[in-house]
Amino acid sequence: MKKQFDNVPDRPSQIPSEYRDPLTGLFNLNGFFYGMEHISGRYVHSAIIHFDVDDFKSFNEQYGFMGGNQFLQSVAEELRIIFIDSILARIGGDHFIAATMAELAEDRIVAFQNRMKTHTRNMQISVKAGIYLPAPYEKGNTALFMDRAKLACDQIKHTYDKSYSIYNPGMEKSRQFRHSIISGFDKALSSGYIKPYYQPHVRLLTGERCGYEALSRWIDPEHGMISPAVFIEVLEDAHLIHLLDLYIIEKVCEDLRFVMDKGLNALPVSVNLSRLDFYLCNVFVEIETIRKRYDIPAKYLHIEVTESALTDEGDFLLSEIPRFHKAGYEVWMDDFGSGYSSLNNLMSYPFDLLKIDMNFLREFETNPKSHIILAAIVRMGKKLGIHTLAEGVETQEQYDFLREIGCEKIQGYFKGRPAPFDRELADKVISRHSVDLTEDGSVTEPIELSKYYDQIGTLNVLSNSPLSPKSLLDATTHPLAILEHTSDSSKVYYLYANDSYREYIKALGLDVDWSQPLMPFTVDDLLNNPVYGALIRRCRETGQKEVEHALIGGTAADVQLKILAEHEGRIAYAVTIEHLMDPQAYEHSFDLTQRSADRSS
Ligand code: C2E
Ligand code: MG
Ligand code: MG
Repeated sequence: MKKQFDNVPDRPSQIPSEYRDPLTGLFNLNGFFYGMEHISGRYVHSAIIHFDVDDFKSFNEQYGFMGGNQFLQSVAEELRIIFIDSILARIGGDHFIAATMAELAEDRIVAFQNRMKTHTRNMQISVKAGIYLPAPYEKGNTALFMDRAKLACDQIKHTYDKSYSIYNPGMEKSRQFRHSIISGFDKALSSGYIKPYYQPHVRLLTGERCGYEALSRWIDPEHGMISPAVFIEVLEDAHLIHLLDLYIIEKVCEDLRFVMDKGLNALPVSVNLSRLDFYLCNVFVEIETIRKRYDIPAKYLHIEVTESALTDEGDFLLSEIPRFHKAGYEVWMDDFGSGYSSLNNLMSYPFDLLKIDMNFLREFETNPKSHIILAAIVRMGKKLGIHTLAEGVETQEQYDFLREIGCEKIQGYFKGRPAPFDRELADKVISRHSVDLTEDGSVTEPIELSKYYDQIGTLNVLSNSPLSPKSLLDATTHPLAILEHTSDSSKVYYLYANDSYREYIKALGLDVDWSQPLMPFTVDDLLNNPVYGALIRRCRETGQKEVEHALIGGTAADVQLKILAEHEGRIAYAVTIEHLMDPQAYEHSFDLTQRSADRSS
């Protein structure tokens, strides 16, 4: 092998103690400077590589201080093996540095990282590397070289797809920007540059607005609007993210209190937590303190955590989710499907709702596979008893498709972009009935009904036998509808009707406008009808699915009915019609009265 540094000490004992890192036997920081100056004058042709263990903290937490130390020792050992004849140092914590031949740098990094896989004990940690290649004219500025190598390394922190990066001058700019975010953060909070924007959640069964997500926005007088996609990561790196998240929660509680004090209809708001929040503070206790200060019931706050919160850090959420549940919060999994171990997570963590990652919808028009995956996620959610919300809905087609497959809620530009809460506007429209956080005339769902609709939403509309508890078959061909009436209305509405139900109604010659889906029957028709009336009465007694054999226009059909949910006289039924023969055989003027006549004849 070509040798670069002839006199690199290859045994720790050869390094004077003031230059030696006692844990690994490599050079320490001073030793590295010493080595660069004295061991070889030829380092101008070498690469400076900075190594940083991504997520070393979680390794330490899982395996303790001793385990962490052993890991650092194995990093040093592997470096010694691969970076033979190079200058190697541990310069503090989990940071290492190497000066090695430029043309070998990348290959050596890859070889080293491959060897490290045997030491990571199945955890999602890796040793990231940043390379600086000094130009021949840049002599002797070791500190600057190290700084640039570190900067290159920092660029790929917490990324899954990159294991090393090479410095380029553009990185300085991004560092300056990051610096301005960190140094300007306090002022941004105290001056109100950062605030929550609210994006509506819409219940697909009713089309009503049923909640919001609070998304932070930083509107800076100098830099303009800074996207959370940019500043969240910087604040995470700087370990300031919990301050942002708690601040946003405080602002949300403030806004909710305002709405409640005005006697308006407040809707629940979901807030985003970073996985780091759980380390940087006692996030449950902090949120409880804020919530109680504003006297907001916990059901108005939903906690969103991303999958990475689970994959990186092991099991802390196993104890945190029940704590939130016990206090009355819902806990939602954000960006479901974007990580790589989503399905494992579902087995372990008791989430209330999956927010389906918007990337599935980005391919909705071009890739039919996305439809299959979306339907499968919704179906799986139902079987696991977890609600579903699709993010990033932008078109009517996407909206209709998600409704048809039984997805319960959506969020996306189609139904509203994130917007600030306007107190003045709320004040002006105070006399109106259904006013909420961002008044624009949409109908909102009273929070008392959210559990009722959640319960209806658990029906697996894609099942072949949706009313049987343990149906394992998929893809229904039977007509299925969900009907609803309230105690004070004589009318019956369709909350849902699948394609075959709509076909069926059409074939019967009945005219239903599915954009205003009023049933052609009244409550009295329904209750007086021998088939439906009997089914409803039996269902109320047994609480189970009930079946009635009906003769419709001389053709036999099984009508199945089940009560899905009830709330203060409001009641929702699921109806399926099976063993249907050729619908053309029915009389044109089919209606419930007709059917009862058929039956009695
Ligand atoms: P997220 O929680 O998954 O939020 C959804 C993101 O999708 C938001 O981006 C939202 O504006 C965007 N979005 C909503 N509907 C559509 C749509 O129809 N089409 C498209 N293309 N995009 C849509 P935003 O506000 O830029 O936030 C990005 C991410 O930053 C959030 O993703 C969340 O993970 C994080 N974030 C935002 N605010 C906070 C916060 O206060 N704390 C923490 N820890 N993270 C936050
Ligand atoms: Mg979110
Ligand atoms: Mg999301």
